[in-house]
Amino acid sequence: MSAEQNTEKQVYLFEEGNTSMVKLLGGKGGNLAEMTALGLPIPPGFTITTAACKSYYKQGGQLSGELQAEIRAAIAALEKVKECRFGDADQPLLVSVRSGSVTSMPGMMDTILNLGLNDETVQGLARQTGSESFAFDCYRRLIGMFGEIVLGVPSLLFSQQLEALLAREGRGSEEELTAREWKQLTGVYKMLVKEHSGMEFPQDVYRQLNMAVGAVFRSWNNARAKVYRKLYSIPHDQGTAVNVQAMVFGNRGEDSGTGVLFTRNPSTGAKELYGEYLTNAQGEDVVAGLRTPRRLSELRDEMPEIYDQLAAAAAGLEAHYREMQDIEFTIENRTLYLLQTRSGKRTAQAAVKIAVELYEEGAVTREEAVSRIDAGHLDQLLHRSIAPFEELKPLAVGLPASPGGAAGMIALDAATAEAWKQNGSRVMLVSAETSPEDIHGILAAEGVLTARGGMTSHAAVVARGMGKPCVCGCDQLSIDAEQRRVHLGGYVLKEGDILSIDGTSGRIYAGAVPLSDPEMTPELLKLLDMADEIRELKIYANADTPQDARLSRELGAEGIGLCRTEHMFFSGTRLPTVQAMILADSREERLGLLERILPMQQSDFEDMFEAMNGLPMTIRLLDPPLHEFMPNLEQLAEQLRGLQLKGGAMDEQKRLKRMMNKIRSLQEKNPMLGLRGCRLGIQFPEIYDMQLEAVFRAAKAAAHRGIEVRPEIMIPLVGDPRELKELRALVDKVASEVLGEAFKSIAYRVGTMIEVPRAAVMAGKIAEHADFFSFGTNDLTQMTFGYSRDDAEGKFLNSYLDRNILSGNPFQRLDQEGVGKLIEWAVASGKEKKSFLKTGLCGEHGGDQSSIFFCQQTGLDYVSCSPYRIPYARMAAAQAVIVAAQVESADKKEQAAFRESEPSAG
Ligand code: ADP
Ligand code: MG
Ligand code: MG
Repeated sequence: MSAEQNTEKQVYLFEEGNTSMVKLLGGKGGNLAEMTALGLPIPPGFTITTAACKSYYKQGGQLSGELQAEIRAAIAALEKVKECRFGDADQPLLVSVRSGSVTSMPGMMDTILNLGLNDETVQGLARQTGSESFAFDCYRRLIGMFGEIVLGVPSLLFSQQLEALLAREGRGSEEELTAREWKQLTGVYKMLVKEHSGMEFPQDVYRQLNMAVGAVFRSWNNARAKVYRKLYSIPHDQGTAVNVQAMVFGNRGEDSGTGVLFTRNPSTGAKELYGEYLTNAQGEDVVAGLRTPRRLSELRDEMPEIYDQLAAAAAGLEAHYREMQDIEFTIENRTLYLLQTRSGKRTAQAAVKIAVELYEEGAVTREEAVSRIDAGHLDQLLHRSIAPFEELKPLAVGLPASPGGAAGMIALDAATAEAWKQNGSRVMLVSAETSPEDIHGILAAEGVLTARGGMTSHAAVVARGMGKPCVCGCDQLSIDAEQRRVHLGGYVLKEGDILSIDGTSGRIYAGAVPLSDPEMTPELLKLLDMADEIRELKIYANADTPQDARLSRELGAEGIGLCRTEHMFFSGTRLPTVQAMILADSREERLGLLERILPMQQSDFEDMFEAMNGLPMTIRLLDPPLHEFMPNLEQLAEQLRGLQLKGGAMDEQKRLKRMMNKIRSLQEKNPMLGLRGCRLGIQFPEIYDMQLEAVFRAAKAAAHRGIEVRPEIMIPLVGDPRELKELRALVDKVASEVLGEAFKSIAYRVGTMIEVPRAAVMAGKIAEHADFFSFGTNDLTQMTFGYSRDDAEGKFLNSYLDRNILSGNPFQRLDQEGVGKLIEWAVASGKEKKSFLKTGLCGEHGGDQSSIFFCQQTGLDYVSCSPYRIPYARMAAAQAVIVAAQVESADKKEQAAFRESEPSAG
């Protein structure tokens, strides 16, 4: 009904609230109330609720009469405690007006201090404190802040006037200004306000207060705040609270001051008080950088009793909140006041150390410690990274293709990169894009930067596999191969100049940016152990080489979920043989060449079995289309033209022509949907045959040496049960031929990737031939959406995200509504057929938190991700269990509440 009035209480004294009321009181208000209840020295005050903010908007930007009355009553309560009156000419009450939303958020209104001063009360303050210059300094601060924040007068105008005054009077600093000069400045500030806002600075103190409160409410909807909320998905209808608090003064001389402190060191996590303060200073002076703040240890020497009080309060607050706190304090004539506490921001290293130590101190449970780590923090810890607190301006930005920071001399081709590396230099491979022939260059480089290609381009995949930082698809990069120069976001750099990249953010910097090294600290190891005790999902690695396998194991992998065998075709000097094999005109010729590749692959596998002793190793048979192994057609054409111009070298010309013809014959309209995966295996069984022979010979040899081998053969791109049936028969045949009677004990499994939507739909039938399913979610996403990842990320994905057609990049975060449904269906129908069917997910989603949560919910057995992602996955998998338990208990509570509220139906 329209007559219905808002009778809800809209103002809470600090004595009336607590932390659990943050939704109503905001973070700052909730904590001020909580601290008041703890008996800490908090200047008295009150909080105007977020609900009041909402009704302010409903009333078209008006403070309702009820709200104004409640504010007056709350002010009266402050007056009583402080024994002074708001607007009183002799004993004036002064307050601060502070915004405080539920989620701490930059972009909200700045705090106004000293509110309640006017031409009369300033005299009272002067008399009361015995210092006119102090009183007028406070007054001009208020006019400046109010003018800027409430009335929109540019702050620069005020500071210019202050500087002009200092210069005119020949004063070195503000402290030297006299009362007369502060008074003068006050007059000038008032004129500025009048000129730029068209209104006088309000002399009525309640008008000041109401205007300030309204301005806080309005700041909830300023552009900065809106953008921030969108970025961090904070609901727009949350509203902000306003805190009004009696002033205390840190600017009353040398025995006063203001500062901030952390209960532990926010950059290292060490258990020590860490903070700064300034004497004779107010509010934001400490962070404003006008004077250099002093270290807290100096406070211990100067005002030991204050320091002890502060240390005790810090310890008490940390124990109470069971979390590292960031505390604001002010000292007024040797009396300590606390003005804010909140959980402190910290570096990744500190976050880990603090979580583990709080657990060891018994302050938090294992689950709480584990869930406090932002999994993204682990990323920072496990790569060399651009120092996080560095404020640097990038030259350009590309796609963040492989995380970590790297710096090196620009090398424009693989050969140069390799040569310089051999001379002991660090190099950065910069190229339009990379191809299999550049592998040695990537290997030699600290990092890779390319102009073209997306997150799954060759450079990106190889770099991620090697754990090297990579930035791809930087369209602000162009390469002048002739002049050996690169153009980068308007700058020109020569080959040999130093460049830094941050593969975590995609940023590119000139010169060598400082990097911090990855570290498996004892705390991190401990935290990961704690996560392992909680998690249910097994964590496997995507590892293609013995080095990667060993590394994965060190990082905690419990098996290999994806060994991509194509990498074995590229490595070392094998590529020419592989190319010759592909070019072979006859089956005989091809078999001969395969015969030469076999021992190389066999030794790779043997090394990997050794590295994974006792753990499963999932080997995927050849997947990509064959043309990916061939050289670039345009380059060959160029070579050929060169030879033709010079004349001669007829044999070489012939070879080139033949190769080009073959490459043309291999070219497909749509290679992603063409002859690849199991289709290749069925079309050219001799290739899979050779791979299988290599696997089983390696298994046998390793077993002979006492290594426990657990091969799991994985067939890619199956879309129909009969494909798997046929290839499974091939696996069994080769296995029995190679292993023979003596090695019957080697148990191997045969399974398939589920990466074609049809395979997911047909999963029940496919399970008849499979021991395991591994969801290849990159291809499954591509084929379910009908997007090619590179094209999507390069062309339209961003605009889809901007338009909210997609809510996230489905290649980074598994699309649970669509692709996820296919997975759920496939798991359920596969398990119905075969209850012991093993299921897992490989591909990049295996290293993404929300995707890991999904795997937990869906009941998969494992996720597999790249080696450096393993610690992250271990944490995320533990957090998934914790979250699932929380959701379950919340559901139960809700059901119980529902049952209570529902009278039992008859
Ligand atoms: P922010 O959210 O930007 O930290 P705050 O509301 O905490 O803003 O206030 C800004 C500065 O003003 C802080 O240094 C704070 O300690 C100081 N401040 C706020 N209220 C008072 C007060 N009543 N007395 C003295 N200083 C205050
Ligand atoms: Mg603050
Ligand atoms: Mg695939």
